[in-house]
Amino acid sequence: MRVGGPAARMVLAETTDELVDAVREVDDADEPLLVLGGGSNLVLPDEGFAGTVVKVATQGVTVESADSCGGATVVVAAGEPWDPLVERAVAEGWAGIEALSGIPGSTGATPIQNVGAYGQEVSQTVARVRVWDRLQEQVRTMTSLDCRFTYRHSLFKGTDRYVVLDVMFQLVVGTLSRPVGYPDLAAQLGVEVGERVPLAEAREAVLAQRRRRGMVLDAPDHDTWSCGSFFTNPVLTPAGFAELEGRVADRLGADVTPPRFAGPDGGVKTSAAWLIERAGFGKGYGLPGPAALSRKHTLALTNRGGAGAGDVVALAREVRDGVREVFGVTLVNEPVLVGDTL
Ligand SMILES: Cc1cc2nc3c(=O)[nH]c(=O)nc-3n(C[C@H](O)[C@H](O)[C@H](O)COP(=O)(O)OP(=O)(O)OC[C@H]3O[C@@H](n4cnc5c(N)ncnc54)[C@H](O)[C@@H]3O)c2cc1C
Repeated sequence: MRVGGPAARMVLAETTDELVDAVREVDDADEPLLVLGGGSNLVLPDEGFAGTVVKVATQGVTVESADSCGGATVVVAAGEPWDPLVERAVAEGWAGIEALSGIPGSTGATPIQNVGAYGQEVSQTVARVRVWDRLQEQVRTMTSLDCRFTYRHSLFKGTDRYVVLDVMFQLVVGTLSRPVGYPDLAAQLGVEVGERVPLAEAREAVLAQRRRRGMVLDAPDHDTWSCGSFFTNPVLTPAGFAELEGRVADRLGADVTPPRFAGPDGGVKTSAAWLIERAGFGKGYGLPGPAALSRKHTLALTNRGGAGAGDVVALAREVRDGVREVFGVTLVNEPVLVGDTL
């Protein structure tokens, strides 16, 4: 997003011991702490952070086993950049994260919001997460079940109690992708949803889709100066969705219905991008800026060069309020707004 001011203090943690020690030191001094991975899912305040930022820069990918019977079990340090890991998995013939190609940030951040795209989520392949528990002051191993993964959420999101130290993935050994789970991607690959394709083809197709939507960082292109999707797709109760259908029909005509997908716990998931566009915020809304919706993707709030965090948050509130007024649905931000709420 390229917004936000300086940190009062910054510590680079290059080993897991350094990471735990740095966090303990800040906690012992009872000072504010921000754990930073790649910074791709954060909106930092313009005035900066009046505490210590611990930058997770730990490294290491340990292959515990890899064979076609048991699959590949890989333990990855939190600071390892995510996309090179996906690239390696594709090259090695480890399937299960290929649809998550091109997502910026660190591996340790992926369990926080159960990173997902194009029909895959890390919850499908995370076997366990090792964390430093700041409350109990001990290292704990959380199984995938303990992590309570749901759509763009987990036990770790919305609390700063746990610092992810490393993540164990269990991947399938083979040359083909997991079943393609996203219609646009299947169409691009020329297959049906549910079919499998060579891993490298899946990765290339995902990267092509992401580039088209401005979702691969490209410094000269302000459409990519974003946090990715700014809002999660709303999950409504069946009654809430029926109410939305009524509002959509009133506003857009009886033959128009909002997108509908099965959500968790019997809920109905709909599309935030669809609601934003129909509420009057089309691609490029807010141009020339300083903050505006991406010209390639309605869900991305972008910095056109001179935006501060205040501009980004003001635009986010305008979109959130506009959608609520028209459709009665309150959108929730996906990135973490440090020191602020929408
Ligand atoms: C162009 C673009 C496209 C994106 N596309 C997607 C997408 O398709 N799907 C998706 O799910 N996300 C997407 N994102 C969001 C983002 O890339 C992911 O959420 C990513 O996992 C964030 O990683 P990070 O290391 O940059 O985290 P940061 O931004 O540094 O941190 C995010 C949050 O996690 C916390 N955190 C980071 N590391 C740790 C750790 N080791 N322990 C504890 N807490 C930690 C931070 O304190 C903060 O609260 C996109 C972002 C951009 C900019």
